Amino acid sequence: MAAKLDLGTFMQKVKEDNPNEPEFHQAVHEVAEVLVPYVNENPRYIKHKVLERLVEPERVIQFKITWHDDHNEIQVNKGYRIQMNSCIGPYKGGLRFHPSVNLGILKFLAFEQVFKNSLTTLPMGGGKGGSNFDPKGKSDLEIMRFCKAFMEELSKHIDENTDVPAGDIGVGGREIGFLFGHYKRLRNKFTGVLTGKGLEYGGSLIRPEATGYGLLYFVDCMLKEKNDGLKGKNVVISGSGNVSFYAAEKCVELGAKVLTLSDSSGYIYDQEGIDAEKLKVVAKIKFEDYDRISAYVNHFPNAVFVEGKTPWEVQCDIALPNATQNELHLDDAKKLLSNGCKLVAEGANMPCTPEAVHFFLENGILYGPGKAANAGGVATSGLEMSQNSLRLSWTREEVDERLRNIMYNIHEQCKKFADEKAGNINYFKGANIAGFVKVANALIAEGY
Ligand code: GLU
Repeated sequence: MAAKLDLGTFMQKVKEDNPNEPEFHQAVHEVAEVLVPYVNENPRYIKHKVLERLVEPERVIQFKITWHDDHNEIQVNKGYRIQMNSCIGPYKGGLRFHPSVNLGILKFLAFEQVFKNSLTTLPMGGGKGGSNFDPKGKSDLEIMRFCKAFMEELSKHIDENTDVPAGDIGVGGREIGFLFGHYKRLRNKFTGVLTGKGLEYGGSLIRPEATGYGLLYFVDCMLKEKNDGLKGKNVVISGSGNVSFYAAEKCVELGAKVLTLSDSSGYIYDQEGIDAEKLKVVAKIKFEDYDRISAYVNHFPNAVFVEGKTPWEVQCDIALPNATQNELHLDDAKKLLSNGCKLVAEGANMPCTPEAVHFFLENGILYGPGKAANAGGVATSGLEMSQNSLRLSWTREEVDERLRNIMYNIHEQCKKFADEKAGNINYFKGANIAGFVKVANALIAEGY
C-alpha cells in the first residue's frame, strides 16, 4: 500500500517547486488541509498521486504585450494564461487586468477555478489568465488597443473546445467585446471562444448578474438550513464592481438591507440602506462614469465615505467580501463576531485569510467559501457555452432558474461531504472534497 501523505511534507514540496508564489501556496494549503486526511482514507488517490498532479498546471503561457498609449508612447505589459486542468472539460476561467497580477496570483486563481468549476456540475476544466495592465484611468481607445494586443497572442492558445476565457477584475463587458472582436478578425471564426459576451453577439442573459445573484441564492440555502432567511438582515458588502452590485440588488429584492459598498480607497456607509433607487445611481457611477464609489455621498448626503478603511467594522448580520483576495483578516473576523455577524460568504476568490477562515469555523460563524458561494458566475458562463453550442438563447427566467438550481445543488454537495460542527455545516470541508472527487476520478480514468 502506498505511504500516507503528510500535509507538512506535501506543502514543503509545493513551496520548493513554486517559489515566491505566496497566494498559490495559500490556496493549495486551504485545499490540502482538508484533502490530505481525505485521500489518506482513500488510498487509490494516494496511489495515483492525484494531489501532486493537481497542483501542477498542465500548461503555463506567458507572453509580451506591446501597445501604444494615447500619447503615442509604446507600453509593455506581461500577459499570462494558466491552463490548469482539463480533466472534466475545456479550460475555463476569467482574465484579470490589474497591476497586482503575477504568475503566483493567477496560479492560485486557476487552482481555485478547477474545484469551483467541478462543483457547478457542468463540464468545465480550470484556467485563469490576465495581465499586469492597469485599466484605471485609461481611455476607451487605449483599452481597445491593449485588448487587441493581448488577443494577438492569446488567440494562438484558445478556442471553444480548448480554453474559454471570460472576465474577472478589470475585465467586463467592454473588454470582452474588444477581445472577442479581435479573435474573430484574427481567426475568421464566430465561435463561443469567450463568455460574458454582449447579448447582441452570443452572450447569455443573467451572465452579468450571475455571480452576485448566485452568491445570494447560496446564502439563502445556508440560512434556510437554519430555518432562517434574508428578510430584515443587515448586510455589509465590500467591492462595488459586478459581483457586489448584483449581490446588493438581490439582497434588496430578498428583503435585506445593504449598508456598505467599497473600493480600494475606502467604503461608503448608508445607514438608511442602499435601496433599488440608490443602486441606479451606483450603476451610473461605476458602469457609465467608471468613477470611484466615494461619489455616492455627493448624491446621498446622509451616507458617509470612510476613507482608507474596509467595511468589516460595521455592525451587521451578514458579511459578503466581494472585492479581492486577502481583504478580510483575523482582526476583521473578530470585529465581525463581536458586532453580531452570523454569516460570511465569499463573492470574491479567497478574500478571507486562513486565520480569518479558521476563526469563523471555530466561533460558530457560518462560512461559505468562494469556490462554492461565487460559482454562479462561471456556472452561467457554462450555460452561455451551452447556448452557443445549441445556437439558441434561453430566456432570462430559464437561465435564472438553472442558476438557482445549480447553486442549490452546490449547497447539497457541500452538505454531503461536510461535518456538522455545533450544528453548523462545515462548507469549507464540504466544498473542497466535493469539488475534488469528480476531477480526481476523471484524472485517474484518463491515465497520464
Ligand atoms: N472570473 C469568474 C470566476 O472567478 C468567472 C469565470 C468565468 O466565467 O469563466 O469564477
